[in-house]
Amino acid sequence: MNRSKWCVRLPFLVCFFLSVSQAQIDEATRKLSHDIFQQLVEINTTDSVGSVTAASEAMAQRFREAGFADSDKQILGPNDRKQNLVVRLHGTGKHQPILLIGHLDVVEAHPEDWTTNPFQFVEKDGFYYGRGTQDMKSGDAIMVTTLIRFKNEGYTPDRDIILALTADEEGGKSNGVEWLLKNHRDLVNAEFVFNSDGGGILSDQGKPVMMTVDATEKLYADFRLSVTNPGGHSSLPTPDNAIYQLADGLARLERYHFPFELNEVTRAYYERMAKVETGERASDMKAILKNPPEQAAIARLSRDPIDNSTLHTTCVATRLNAGHANNALPQRAEANVNCRILPGHSAEEVRQELIRVLADPKIAVLYVNNFGEVFDHAPDRKSLPPPPLRRDVFAPLEKITSEMWPGTPVVPDMATGASDGIYTTAAGLPTYGITGIAVDRDDIRAHGRDERLGIRSYYEGVDFYYRYLKAVTSE
Ligand SMILES: [Zn+2]
Repeated sequence: MNRSKWCVRLPFLVCFFLSVSQAQIDEATRKLSHDIFQQLVEINTTDSVGSVTAASEAMAQRFREAGFADSDKQILGPNDRKQNLVVRLHGTGKHQPILLIGHLDVVEAHPEDWTTNPFQFVEKDGFYYGRGTQDMKSGDAIMVTTLIRFKNEGYTPDRDIILALTADEEGGKSNGVEWLLKNHRDLVNAEFVFNSDGGGILSDQGKPVMMTVDATEKLYADFRLSVTNPGGHSSLPTPDNAIYQLADGLARLERYHFPFELNEVTRAYYERMAKVETGERASDMKAILKNPPEQAAIARLSRDPIDNSTLHTTCVATRLNAGHANNALPQRAEANVNCRILPGHSAEEVRQELIRVLADPKIAVLYVNNFGEVFDHAPDRKSLPPPPLRRDVFAPLEKITSEMWPGTPVVPDMATGASDGIYTTAAGLPTYGITGIAVDRDDIRAHGRDERLGIRSYYEGVDFYYRYLKAVTSE
């Protein structure tokens, strides 16, 4: 049936339904994937009050019901609240295993900021709402659904498929991927890794623009800007005030842009995108690829937050804390500045640049590690180079993408956030962020309020992952 023809004649809702049911999944799969998604969203897995363990146990129960042996699913982790789940579907052993990773934890969500309850799975206006609908309980639910479908069918892949659902990607002290690699490498060792926390279809008003694959990522770093002062009585202000000094420095940082820079992956990205985009965006993309690049084109593209983050290291103030009493001059003023650093640069290089930009020796620039510990020197480690663009990963991806979203290019991409891929990459496992979930470029709500995912997008993601993973594991 030609869907677009029907859509002209049928009322919008029916038309929408036809769109939804376009994904080639049966009712049982639809229900299974829906129920798992709902279950995960409704288990609070925030670091503050949630439990990743509860989510791991719920998924382990699903695998048990699907007939996975106890020896093929393990719950393990460093403490009671941060237990990870590792599940193995056995293959023929023709190739080395593949590891699928997904984090179960979510960013905090304050119900008073939301229009729905963030820990309730709400269906509204063609979307599923709830914390984790984009980042990344949808991806978790899809991976669980896919393995259960494989098991139900009696499908034997040509390599073991290992799924690790883990804790503390978003923060916290017990990162599950790091912990598993360190303590149970044998359980998760693989030839390469698919991370569902990246990649996917970028769409514009529901129309797919490209299938992105996260093939490298920026380095994450926090810095504490700190000004101290003897303080005094607020009835007798002095010229050197910790709050004003910090604020002036932050204003200089706000106006500063880190240099424009392309690498192998982002260059390939813009080469492909220049053919997809139209008008000024397309010509700007061509102009930045020139040698030398055109400055006006860089400036125009950089107005888009995604392009800006792709073309530059970024540092932005995210927290502020100062003073100790309403009637006292501040003895201390501090800000957190969060940086996302382009591959090939270290956190220490960026710290030195911050010192230069802040241009005030009274503002100390300290590096803050994952545990909140503070240092007057940042790591010199540069983010790792991209893994090879493997044929056994990309050829099936091109194939399934062209079947499901004809004409949509597959574009290797640099993740501008940071994900658990840093741990697998650092452990020598080539890692690719791949999903079939589509999100509009102006509807990226991960970590934000009213996080949501299009219902149609979700079921297409379910359909895609099954077809793609099967293609990768069956030649
Ligand atoms: Zn995530």
